[in-house]
Amino acid sequence: MKRFVWILTAAFCLAACGGKEPITPEPVETLSVSPATLSFTDEDTSTKLVSVTSSSAWTASASAAWMHVSPTSGGGNASVSVTVDANTAVGARTGSITISGGSKTASVSVTQAGAGKIEVVPSPATFDGTKRSGTTYQLLVYSFADSDGDGVGDFKGIEKHLDYLDDLGVTALWLSPSHPTDSYHGYDVNDYMSLNPLFGTEADFQSLIDAAHAKGIKIYMDFVLNHTGLGHAWFQSLKADPAKSPYRDYYVLSTDPSSDAVAGRVENYGGSKSAGMGSWFSLGGDNIGYKGRLHFKVDWTGSAKYVTVTETTEAPQSPNTANASRWIHVGNQGSLGMYETSTGIFELTLDVDTEWGFLVRTSNDNSWPSGTKYGGAPGNTVITLGKPFKLDNSSSAADIVFGEATYYFGAFGSYMPDVNYGAYTSCETSPAFKETVAAATKWVNMGVDGFRLDAVLWVYNAQITPNQRFLSLWYDAVNAAYKAAGHSDNIFMVGEAWEDHGIEKQYYKGLISNFEFNYGGMVSGMLGNHDATGYVNAVNGYLTDHKAVRPDAITSIFLTNHDQDRFAEWVGKNEAKEKQAAAILLSTPGKPFLYQGEELGYYGKKGSTDAPVRQPIAWDAGLTDLPRYALSDNHKSDLTDYNMVKAANSVAAQKENTNSVLNVYRTWSRLRNTYPALADGEMTHAGLTGSSIASWYMSSGSQKLLVVHNIATSQKEVKVTDSMSRPVALLGTAQIKDQTLILGANSSVVFQLAD
Ligand code: MG
Repeated sequence: MKRFVWILTAAFCLAACGGKEPITPEPVETLSVSPATLSFTDEDTSTKLVSVTSSSAWTASASAAWMHVSPTSGGGNASVSVTVDANTAVGARTGSITISGGSKTASVSVTQAGAGKIEVVPSPATFDGTKRSGTTYQLLVYSFADSDGDGVGDFKGIEKHLDYLDDLGVTALWLSPSHPTDSYHGYDVNDYMSLNPLFGTEADFQSLIDAAHAKGIKIYMDFVLNHTGLGHAWFQSLKADPAKSPYRDYYVLSTDPSSDAVAGRVENYGGSKSAGMGSWFSLGGDNIGYKGRLHFKVDWTGSAKYVTVTETTEAPQSPNTANASRWIHVGNQGSLGMYETSTGIFELTLDVDTEWGFLVRTSNDNSWPSGTKYGGAPGNTVITLGKPFKLDNSSSAADIVFGEATYYFGAFGSYMPDVNYGAYTSCETSPAFKETVAAATKWVNMGVDGFRLDAVLWVYNAQITPNQRFLSLWYDAVNAAYKAAGHSDNIFMVGEAWEDHGIEKQYYKGLISNFEFNYGGMVSGMLGNHDATGYVNAVNGYLTDHKAVRPDAITSIFLTNHDQDRFAEWVGKNEAKEKQAAAILLSTPGKPFLYQGEELGYYGKKGSTDAPVRQPIAWDAGLTDLPRYALSDNHKSDLTDYNMVKAANSVAAQKENTNSVLNVYRTWSRLRNTYPALADGEMTHAGLTGSSIASWYMSSGSQKLLVVHNIATSQKEVKVTDSMSRPVALLGTAQIKDQTLILGANSSVVFQLAD
């Protein structure tokens, strides 16, 4: 058949071409590729080969920039390489490689799977304006904001910046002690019934309370029950006349602390025979001294020597400066020569004014030669007027005094004398109990919503049962005043029971709330060792233990306070950890306290003073309203750490920076205010695996949230069985691929699971 066709063609050609040679037929054009399809995974960057079969030169090109083909031209049969970029998009993508040669084209279809990772973009519910979190801001009145330019923070300064606190989402302020004081910090209170004039007037305070209430912010005062300052009128009265002062019962006094302690007579020890902490300090003053006219008579006639002192109205004598051999050394009057009125009898009448008593001397040599000083034998130094007193001239001879020395007890040192509430079994009958309750009542009646009670362990010197009884009665008394002022709830009161949890929890028998001092260390510890496995159990342990003591217990949690190194120091000034600590604190049940400056990333360590951890707020770059003299007792020294304040950046600068520490606090505080499940919900295990994954559910009513923190410093992937379709908060980075949550280093996310 073929041959027949050729013959026909040749015959035709011979006829048409005039009998010339027959032409050679054109070769058949060919182009094909194999395989015709390629597929890649999302992260597949391997090279795939395509075979090109072609009868001519060809070119190769890709239809999209994410595909790469090489070589892009050739001739005849060859292989071309095809690679693709990783696909980070959620969905798959397609394209093609086109090979063109001569009049022919062939194409290779390319598909690449999608990454399937969805960036977590939080979309929280709109905040309805009801602050429900209970978050409290620990505010140092002296170093927060200065409204009048005297360099000391004040009530008007706080009122001026209430918007800042409102924006931070806080629902209460714990104000540092606001009473008259001799110190900058105010923990030595000189009057419970009035206010530190440096901070403003009662009208200023009332204005602050009212303005705060208008923003849904409560006011808690710091109440220092355990001790007063030296300048308190009670103590001044006592010091002026230790024997007759009507305030003897207000302080812990003893003329012989050692014997009283051993005999169990120090009621402030709460039944113990030792203080645990603190010392006794002499009141000094008139009880051991004397002011008035006295007749001194020294009897040197026998082997034992005596002095007899009597009050007299006879005229005072000028001291014997001519031939004295015995001297009375008294007060600041120095040594005064006596007259020998008969053999071995020496006498002198004097007006004396001595704070320490007197001595008899046998030499007027100011170097006190050995054996020339005659005083009282140790333990027997108090002279009774009108009666002979036996003199001692041993090396330990002591001042002869006119009354017993009185000592006062101070758990926190000489400038903070402990208040005496009497025997704990009847503390409510003590005048100090009644006066402190009356003072608290005054502030409650002005609108104060609660109190932070200082040093509650030391009211009865770390004795738990006495302290429980005292605090319970004090709470009930002030709560009664609070109810009488028209409140239907119970007053908030949080105790500084600075002890391990095992002891701290017992103070719920006295108070509705106490600070959980173990909490901040636990958070910094897990951020340091990246192990969160015990967190949920520990937190629930606190809550359960407290509620076991009283069902209405409120567990107060915080990172650090004014008596500790800054939390930023605990985590090595690592800003990512500071932010995550905020997110953890604000997503944990309990009542969170934020310490002034923590929200700005303030750092600082306690040193010879506490100034480094109590620095003023930098409101703007110009340091407007900076209380620069806040931290010195005389308010004349500027102890502001300007390097720290500038490094931490001002409130104004941090507000503008969406990545600032401040904005993490604002975001997570608002989240807590928005969702009842976070504000006061129940915490249960979420069961996500990985020791660096802290995860839990927060539930309230039908609302349920899933909280996940990756406390590792590297990205972690964790399988989640719950729906992750409704993220409501994010710190750091998070992606979702199918049911895997990919959390960046120190990243946190919250999902809403149910309304
Ligand atoms: Mg001021």
